[in-house]
Amino acid sequence: MNNNFCSLCPNGCKIDKETTKGACGTDNKIRIAKFYLHSFEEPIISGTRGSGTVFFCGCSLKCAFCQNFELSRNLRGKDITVNELAEIFQTLESNGAHNINLVNPTHYSDKIIEALKIYRPNIPIVYNTHGYEKIEILEKLNDYIDVYLPDMKFYSPAVSKRYTGKENYFEVASRAVEFMAKSKPYATDKDGLIKSGVIVRHLVLPQNTSDSKKILDWFLKIKDDAYIDVMSQYTPFGDIEKLPELQRKITKREYNSVIDYAISIGIDKMFYQKQISASEEYIPKWDF
Ligand code: SF4
Repeated sequence: MNNNFCSLCPNGCKIDKETTKGACGTDNKIRIAKFYLHSFEEPIISGTRGSGTVFFCGCSLKCAFCQNFELSRNLRGKDITVNELAEIFQTLESNGAHNINLVNPTHYSDKIIEALKIYRPNIPIVYNTHGYEKIEILEKLNDYIDVYLPDMKFYSPAVSKRYTGKENYFEVASRAVEFMAKSKPYATDKDGLIKSGVIVRHLVLPQNTSDSKKILDWFLKIKDDAYIDVMSQYTPFGDIEKLPELQRKITKREYNSVIDYAISIGIDKMFYQKQISASEEYIPKWDF
């Protein structure tokens, strides 16, 4: 069997990445779109100096409404080596980053481990993922990761199929996030910034509050071990021409009904926005 056959994510493409690109759109190289000190994560991640964020290209989930379409689908970016990735970690740390924030890292998890073996920063490593992850890969990553920042995007198989083509998103992602919540107890540093733990992110979509509420019901299972961030910033973007319901922002009423529901079922470790914030301003300018 060829060792280059890829099974890093639940897509299990079983292709040789030396010669072929997988469903994530990437081959054996690392491709990134940007690295910088990012101020728009949760305050316990961005702090005052910013989160040392690396945006990876390609994606193993590919939501139709992806806000980072340019890099997830169009692969806008540049190829770097494992050594260069390790140098980027070092640069971000010396520039004052509170943590290293790996955005959409799933399909590079093997390379990320190699880079962290070359240089392990003395700040937390944040794994910022869509949540569609394999447990056996998370087990390999677990010693290198301090904070998991997984999305929990969809509950219903019909909704996840409509937006990603995958019916099993919730089944796979809920298992992965429950593993994360068990693995990383919540801890902060002296300034209140996260050192270890899990923050689940859920983006409320237009006409989808019932799915959001089912995600909140599921979250009760792990509510003692994780925070949830209920996000309002959905902006119509990406490949949504055939999805009329996604061609508007969410309303204040939709968002508030989800937040009110979370409070009513006893979720207290929650981040939420006081005002609806949905703007392309939050999409970074890509470097390459
Ligand atoms: S990481 Fe990419 S190539 Fe590997 S199994 Fe997943 S989609 Fe396929």
